[in-house]
Amino acid sequence: MKVFKGLKELQIFIQTYKRQNPKEIIGLVPTMGALHKGHLSLIESSKKTCDLTIVSIFVNPTQFGANEDFGKYPRKTEADLEICQRAEVDIVFMPEVAEMYPLKPSLQTTFNAPSSMANVLEGEARSGHFNGVLQVLNKLFHLIQPHKAFFGKKDAQQLLIVQKMVEDLFFPLEIIPCEIVRSEEGLALSSRNEYLSIEGKKEALKISQSLKVAMQVIMQGERESLKIKAEALKVLEGLEVEYFAIVDRNLEPILTIQKDSTLILVVAKIEGVRLLDNVWF
Ligand code: AMP
Repeated sequence: MKVFKGLKELQIFIQTYKRQNPKEIIGLVPTMGALHKGHLSLIESSKKTCDLTIVSIFVNPTQFGANEDFGKYPRKTEADLEICQRAEVDIVFMPEVAEMYPLKPSLQTTFNAPSSMANVLEGEARSGHFNGVLQVLNKLFHLIQPHKAFFGKKDAQQLLIVQKMVEDLFFPLEIIPCEIVRSEEGLALSSRNEYLSIEGKKEALKISQSLKVAMQVIMQGERESLKIKAEALKVLEGLEVEYFAIVDRNLEPILTIQKDSTLILVVAKIEGVRLLDNVWF
């Protein structure tokens, strides 16, 4: 496994690799580190379908708001490298912030994610978040020029916005959505779960349980969003629910759900930690 910190070294490696192996498929798994089994499933998908798997580990400052946890976001370089080594990742790219953003913000080219997708749900609470995500992904996609990039359905809004950018701007790249990985009890794995106490983790199970109830109600034939939501909210009683939304793939609210175009998302705060989960129907 090769570890690159500098852009130049990485670019030279990629250019040489592509020249020598023009038919080989390059897969990119973008992460912010503190790797867990959720990230590993993305890595495994890349290993299965690509010849070269590159994992980027970069806590991207431009996607954090001023009052968010950029400073305290878990950074676990050694453990991450060990996980990547065991997973037989080919390349790890872990640049410093100054390498990715050498200029002051007012001199940086920025991106506007489509407003109707970016200013709702997560974007309502985290203004500018998705522009920051697209900014760093543009840099990574241009530097690495992967054939495929792997994203978790756990961050559903991010996945849909990235897919939209790739389509809109004709990126020569395939976005591969990967299923949500959960703990045995059902909690969606997240690097931020580390902030929770044992008690908090127990409380957090209500989040996935609420989605389970929503799906049960749907399986019984219910199609009205309001009724599905009302049943799910009963499970979330006592939690600080930021939103429970039933939307289509453009993230627009729907009154009547339809198979293959419905996304149910929930965000609740436990011990001050925002926890996301969702289910695709
Ligand atoms: P992050 O390091 O949190 O930015 O996540 C990097 C990638 O891993 C994103 O595409 C996430 O959606 C994905 N991911 C994080 N947690 C999970 C999970 N529990 N299951 C599947 N994918 C995940």
